Formats: sequence, C-alpha cells, structure tokens
Amino acid sequence: MVVPLVNRIRTGAVAPEEFARLPEVKVADETAHAAEAIATGLFSPLEGFLHAEEVDGVLRELSLPDGHVWSLPIVFAPRALDGGDVRPGQDVLLTHGGRPIALFHLEDAYAFDVESFAQGVLGTTSPDHPGVAYVRSTYGPRAYAGKITLLQRPLWGPLEPYRLDPADARRCFAERRWKTVVGFQTTNPPHRAYEYIHRTVLELFDGLFIHPVVDTVRPKYTSVSILNAYRTLIDHYYRPERVLLAAWRAKMLFAGPRDALHHAVVRRNLGCTHIVIGRRHADTDGRYGDYDAWKIFDRVDRGRLGIQPLFFREVVYCPRCGGHVTDAVCPHADRERISGTRVRAFLKARKGVPAHAMRPEVVEAVRGAVIA
Ligand SMILES: [Zn+2]
Repeated sequence: MVVPLVNRIRTGAVAPEEFARLPEVKVADETAHAAEAIATGLFSPLEGFLHAEEVDGVLRELSLPDGHVWSLPIVFAPRALDGGDVRPGQDVLLTHGGRPIALFHLEDAYAFDVESFAQGVLGTTSPDHPGVAYVRSTYGPRAYAGKITLLQRPLWGPLEPYRLDPADARRCFAERRWKTVVGFQTTNPPHRAYEYIHRTVLELFDGLFIHPVVDTVRPKYTSVSILNAYRTLIDHYYRPERVLLAAWRAKMLFAGPRDALHHAVVRRNLGCTHIVIGRRHADTDGRYGDYDAWKIFDRVDRGRLGIQPLFFREVVYCPRCGGHVTDAVCPHADRERISGTRVRAFLKARKGVPAHAMRPEVVEAVRGAVIA
C-alpha cells in the first residue's frame, strides 16, 4: 500500500514579529525532532501529535483510526509546559534552543497516564528499563494533540551532514536505480556481525540504507562517532555507490517489538522496500523474548505495512567454519558471540578489539567515543 508522504514544512524565511502574539512553548530535543519528523513525512501519515483515542488505538490495535499500521504513540506530554498555559484552538509557537521551529495547531489537551503509557509501549513499568526511567522523568500528566507546521529546522550540530528527508532519500534511491532498498536500523557502531548482514543484503538487493538512531535514552557512544564509524566502514570495505548513510534523530526508548514495527514504518516512508529485523531488535539487556520482534509482524497486514521485514538470526564467529555464521548454516558448538557490549568492554579497557569482532579502522573511529 502506498502511503502519501506528508509535507508540513512552510517555505520562506521566518520573521520574528509574525508570531509575536502567539503563546510560546520551549521544547526539548525529543519534541523538536519529532516535529521535524512529522513535517518531513518521516512519520507519514501522521500530521501532528496524537489524540488520546489515537494513542489507545495504537496501543491496542497497532493501528491508526484509518487503519494504517502504527505501533509507537508519538505524543507531546511535557512534564511541565515551559511557557505557560495553552488552550485548544490556539496556535502555539514551539521554540528550540531559542529559535522558533514550528507552529503547533493545538486541537486537544488530555489526561496522560505515564505508567499505562510505559506498560503499553515498553511492556513494563520496571525502573530498570531505560525507557521507563526516561518517560517517568520527562513526561507529565497532560498531553497535547494537534498538527504541526515546521518553520525552521532544529539545528543538528555535527550531525548536519547526515540529515536526509524522506523525499530526498526516495530521489536518491531513484537516481541510483535501486528497485530494492534494505533499511538497516542500528544504535551501535558496526561490528563484524553487522557487516555480515550488510554483505548478505548487498548480495541479494540493489541498495543498502544504513540509518542509525542517534539519540536513544541510553547513549553508548557519541552520536557523531557512530556515523563516522559507518562512513569509515563504507569507505574501506563497501562499494560506496551501493550504500547510503543518514542519521535519524529520535529519542528511542528500546521498545523492542513495537520499535521493530515503528522502524519498519519509518524506513518505508524513506523509500525502503525491506528492513533488517534482528532476533532481539531494539532490545536492551534481554528484556523482550527472543524473536518477539519478529512475531509482532504477524499481527499486522503486511500489505498495509508496505515494507517487508528480513529476519536475521544472531551472527556469531565460528573458528571451525573460519568466519561469521548463523544457526542457519553452522553446526558447531564452540562459537564466539559478537555483541556491542563485548566490543565496548574491549574499548573501555583500552584493549585491542579482535579483528573478527570489529574492523581496525572502525575501532579507530570510535576509540574515545564510548559514553557508557
Ligand atoms: Zn561453524
């Protein structure tokens, strides 16, 4: 099913006096980036922040009222509204870092239950889950719904070269004559298990779109180092004309299966035909069941979803096979897991990272960039 690309970007310069009479609300990065994602069509068919009944439908049915697949409620529920009272029916000026970025056409304000949101989205209210800790500390008792008109882009700082709108991504895929494009979601720099997946994809499909989320609630590396690491891998080991790299700024909550579906919808909007879904996609510390991220795709109409998941098993290193393998092929027991956690442990201990775990050029790109 073709989902029309939403475009809620106002063109032309912003004159400060134009909005001087509007109530002004200062927003944090998450809201600024969500407003941009809505306006550029990254979140098509959304045109704004969700209403209460839309949140309910998303949580219960994985669906918007019009039947479009949607798994992760995009809400504006600040802990305190920084800028004072606003009323439904008003236009509100959203500012970020002192700059006006969007008009919020406020349609409704409603009671918002942080705990049931956490339970519905993350499947838990345990404070150990970094997503739960984030929503408790950030979201408040009221949410605000309404459409967005983007006036100016939030500044992306050092990530500016990696900004890519859906319309531009689609144009780029078309120019490269890619009929099949596989989206690769990640929050980590590339280790060799990821590279195995990339190589498998590049054998079978026209193009690979590497699209890291760089503002998770649990950052492990500096954002720009993650992008630099992929750039380095592409430059040294891949055919650059077959790979595209861009960043996605979103406060990823590690919602496991719901994130998997959301990641698919967003990559569909960017023009991807397929997306890699790992066995524990968007998991953190093994909180979701193995393969839960695959099973959620059985709950939605694949035709309506408009993108095909490619389910990848865990990639490990097998000394007997002499390479990277999965259970689909390798029969041996004595194998070495390659995880982001292990790679970070090597980097933090300032030890050499084994070449079968990470390319030396990539190690250089992320050395000193580990946060936690
Ligand atoms: Zn083997």
